[in-house]
Amino acid sequence: MTKFLLISEDNGKIETVNKVFSSDEIIPCTDETMIFDVLKVEEPDVVIIDGDIDKFDLKPLCRKIKSFPVVSLLIIGEKEHNKDVTHNINLFIKAPIDEKLLEATVDSSLKTRQSLLKMTKSNQELAASLYQLNVLYNTSSQLAGTLDKDKLVQIMIEGIEKSLNFEMSCTLIFRSEREPVLIINSLYKISDRLLEALKLRAILSYKSLLTDPPYDIKIGNLKIEKNIKHNIKEYDFSILRYDNLFAPIMLNDEFFGFEEIYREHPFSTEDATVFQTLVRQVTIPLQSASFTQELKATNRKLQKLERLKSEFISIVSHELRTPLTAIKNAMDIILSGKAGDMTENIEKFVSMGKRNAIRLSGIINDLLDISKIEAGKMDFKFELMNVEPVIEYVRSNLLEVAREKGLDIVFTPSAKQVEVYADSNRLEQVLTNLVSNAIKFTTQGNIEISATVVNARELRYDQCFEEDIKKLQGNYLLVCVEDHGIGIERKDLNHVFDKFAQIENSLSRKVGGTGLGLPIARQLMEAHNGAIWCDSEVGKGSKFYFVIPVANDKSNFLMIRKQLAQQARSNGSTIAVIKIKSTNDTIEKLLNDKNLLNKTYMANSMIEKDGLMTTLSLILMDGDKPSAEFLKKKIDSVIEQNKDLYGKCDIMYSYEIEGDTHEKDSYSG
Ligand code: ADP
Repeated sequence: MTKFLLISEDNGKIETVNKVFSSDEIIPCTDETMIFDVLKVEEPDVVIIDGDIDKFDLKPLCRKIKSFPVVSLLIIGEKEHNKDVTHNINLFIKAPIDEKLLEATVDSSLKTRQSLLKMTKSNQELAASLYQLNVLYNTSSQLAGTLDKDKLVQIMIEGIEKSLNFEMSCTLIFRSEREPVLIINSLYKISDRLLEALKLRAILSYKSLLTDPPYDIKIGNLKIEKNIKHNIKEYDFSILRYDNLFAPIMLNDEFFGFEEIYREHPFSTEDATVFQTLVRQVTIPLQSASFTQELKATNRKLQKLERLKSEFISIVSHELRTPLTAIKNAMDIILSGKAGDMTENIEKFVSMGKRNAIRLSGIINDLLDISKIEAGKMDFKFELMNVEPVIEYVRSNLLEVAREKGLDIVFTPSAKQVEVYADSNRLEQVLTNLVSNAIKFTTQGNIEISATVVNARELRYDQCFEEDIKKLQGNYLLVCVEDHGIGIERKDLNHVFDKFAQIENSLSRKVGGTGLGLPIARQLMEAHNGAIWCDSEVGKGSKFYFVIPVANDKSNFLMIRKQLAQQARSNGSTIAVIKIKSTNDTIEKLLNDKNLLNKTYMANSMIEKDGLMTTLSLILMDGDKPSAEFLKKKIDSVIEQNKDLYGKCDIMYSYEIEGDTHEKDSYSG
């Protein structure tokens, strides 16, 4: 049934309207003030206004009617109406009234109004769902951004609050395994009685959710965290009668806690879905957070164990070294005959003992080296040097062992003589390991050592070494130790550089070893800004390569310098970088000065304080070649003359790199 409000004094019109809508309710009214009361109280669907009414002005009436949700219809008769009236009216019909037209007009506009109302309602629902979706989306992206358990739970609660407007939420979580926390977020204060009830309820919910609860929660160990928005009012038990939603925070069988919310205004089924979705969303991040927590704890334990292991190896190796040296010395005395004569048999056995003591000492040294490298305590003494004498030295040392097996060691030096910045003892160690391995794993053919200068771009290597070699840039001295022995399978190529790796073959079992030589060599090469790798074919032999940056090379200079600076800084010494921009004249002038070195860097404004030269361990020079070489010679002689004042001061120079924008002027320790 439709409700009409009819504003007319014309009996004819009143009669027609009553006739057309006889089965509907028609409220007649012609009192201007009453009209609005009827509109408010009766809420009619249609208002029919007689355009010829004389009793009051239609303008303000029509303007006001617009604010009511009604269909308005004007019967246009004798009177003319201006825009103030017509603009605010929905429908028009001419007098005398055509009954059919009146009925059809009202009917169709009522239908339109109904569908408009429906649309508005579904629009509102859509907007609400969109808002909730937006909250869901924002919450999930925020959840993805953290692995902190507390933050995750807070983001979840905020998401639920934004989309469901609760009055109180109770969240049970485990901050750590045995630390249950009940987080209460409430609009108003919570009475003590309510708090006790909530605690009890949380414990009961926990116990009823899990058939076999992993921890026992008691009132006494349940921590409470309250976030109260307004202090103006206090909730008591009444809130427990509000509508509520509850969801466990669980992933498969893993239980993280639960979430419960209370609201006076009842929750719809859509609200429940949103709530469940929001709670479910937090479970995977919570699980990742737990894994991360566990992983961190395990990592800390592992690091501690690793440290303990290194310390243990270091202490034990030290302790073993002293008695072993004594054993070796005693055997030397016996073998020298100083302890008395011995039979051939005794000499044979003591020599065997000595050989094994030397081997044992090698193993202990390897263990010590690896523990030092791992602890970052390996000392290096870098200096500008030529590698060839070191290769010659290692060759002559091992030649006898090789010859005992019928092998020869051949060395082909580089045609181009270059210097590298290296620790000669460590280089010797690497070379000795490579050549000894070559002897160990070879039964015939020569062992060939070569040294060449190459650019990093020209290096050829197996894919498995890409990580080590792709970072190299510039010119390098490439040393290769080649043998024609048993070779290494491709799958094992990279593993030979792993700690304690011994490739499974009959020979390696027979010859023995610790499997530490190559990992140590790799670390030593890294410390030299170089690399080590190998290439091999089973049955044909192996090639072990290592590279060290060429010292006077433009592209390597900055890298080496950085390494030296770091090293000097960790030793507490100072490095000066001298840029030679001056002409020879100026240098000459500086060198003639008594305090030439201080003046040099002062002139280049590199070192603020006077007298720092005494702590200098290295001077690096950039500039054109003749000036650099000239200055280097002069500085050398000054240092030579003032040894006690300057101590040991290395000089390294690189020419033709003026204007390099990456340079730093000085490093101080
Ligand atoms: P080890 O003390 O056992 O020789 P290394 O770290 O020096 O320890 O070498 C590790 C393993 O690499 C060796 O046990 C061997 O299996 C393999 N290997 C090293 N050099 C060669 C080589 N020249 N030919 C064949 N296999 C080699």
